[in-house]
Amino acid sequence: MTQLPTKSSYDVVIVGGAMLGSSVAWFLASNPDFDGSILVVERDATYEFASTSHTNSCMRQQFSAEINIRISQFAADFVKNFRAYMGDDPRVPDLAFQSYGYMYLADTDAFAADLKSAQAVQARLGAGTRHMSRDEIAADYPFYQLDDIVAGNHNLVDEGYFDGGTLFDWWKRSAKERGAEYINNQVTGMTLNPAGTTVDSVTLKSGEVIACGKVVNASGPRASVTAAMAGIDLPVEPRKRYTFIFDAAQPLDRDLPLTIDPSGVHMRSEGAYYLAGCPPDEDPAVDYDDFIEDFSIWESKVWPVIATRVPQFEQVKLINSWVGHYAFNTFDQNAILGPHPKVGNFIFLNGFSGHGLQQSPAMGRGTSEMITYGGYRSLDLSPFHYDRIVANQPFVEKAVI
Ligand SMILES: Cc1cc2nc3c(=O)[nH]c(=O)nc-3n(C[C@H](O)[C@H](O)[C@H](O)COP(=O)(O)OP(=O)(O)OC[C@H]3O[C@@H](n4cnc5c(N)ncnc54)[C@H](O)[C@@H]3O)c2cc1C
Repeated sequence: MTQLPTKSSYDVVIVGGAMLGSSVAWFLASNPDFDGSILVVERDATYEFASTSHTNSCMRQQFSAEINIRISQFAADFVKNFRAYMGDDPRVPDLAFQSYGYMYLADTDAFAADLKSAQAVQARLGAGTRHMSRDEIAADYPFYQLDDIVAGNHNLVDEGYFDGGTLFDWWKRSAKERGAEYINNQVTGMTLNPAGTTVDSVTLKSGEVIACGKVVNASGPRASVTAAMAGIDLPVEPRKRYTFIFDAAQPLDRDLPLTIDPSGVHMRSEGAYYLAGCPPDEDPAVDYDDFIEDFSIWESKVWPVIATRVPQFEQVKLINSWVGHYAFNTFDQNAILGPHPKVGNFIFLNGFSGHGLQQSPAMGRGTSEMITYGGYRSLDLSPFHYDRIVANQPFVEKAVI
């Protein structure tokens, strides 16, 4: 059911009310220094097709770029101290966080050397990553077949599955309680001032024209459609990512870390079951509404890899599967943040590719600081600004999944 806003003007209009939109809404609404009005416009209040509803909900400290590691450190702190961050609200539950870690497996000396240098950066920042020889991996996880493996990186601290769904629900609920207005509607257009430097208003599908102080693009895989409304090119497109849940006839005797096989297939424990996924070999932009599954990926790619890597997975039964869209940043697969250099009140929160859920606490906090103070107060997130696209200087992050 379409809902209408209660006012004709808001200080901040957020386009998209899923994980990232709700993150910035919550951080703004919770900041005593921000006393403005917030409108969150969400085109599908069921969130059925949002990336947030198709996520694998994992967090890792194993990035190669220092700022990405610091972002994950804040994420882990936020998840572990969720109730405290939510103002010690007694209704807020503890969030599940299963730290079985990511296990990156290297099958060449060059890849092993990359893992070793990533481990050094992570260790310097206090992450618990271990660079492991094949024998050390075999001793800790005897179920792997490691004949082709040279080394691996593994970290059992603040890395694994976390309950992002509950976090999202509470951000949304609490942002509303703190004054953010959510409506089920769609932003279909924007009107700029004559100089083209400010978005004056957004137009809703229901016809209303709403004046805005700032507009935040939190529209996930549709981010480039939203940017185009302000005349901005954004290198973000929807790409399909496949998830498969399977049962093993002979379950493993310990947790399966989120294992990144050199083939690109990943797998991990999922309660009593297991989860696996991968990008497709051909990885084009897809239609925004294309969520058609392709079971040949399971048959011809995923299952052969997992059964080779873990021989106990010779006998498995597929019990669930889904397709979700990454908001894939074709420029450098990392977040695009901050104000547009020309249209100064248009703020990006886009392009998170496969790591937006874990980055949502730091990115929502930083975006709320940018809106409230005109600059960052905690982590300096300016390396993610749109300016790097204009300057053609990609953000370098070697650990992209
Ligand atoms: C299969 C898969 C596995 C993943 N695994 C992980 C993981 O393990 N860890 C991790 O950190 N991340 C993971 N991710 C990525 C993560 O889920 C996303 O980065 C994150 O959920 C993005 O949230 P978002 O709010 O930006 O986008 P979305 O969740 O897509 O939300 C965007 C919202 O904007 C709305 N919208 C769009 N246009 C308009 C408009 N014009 N008007 C109004 N509303 C609009 C949409 O309806 C949608 O609800 C995964 C993603 C996928 C697909």
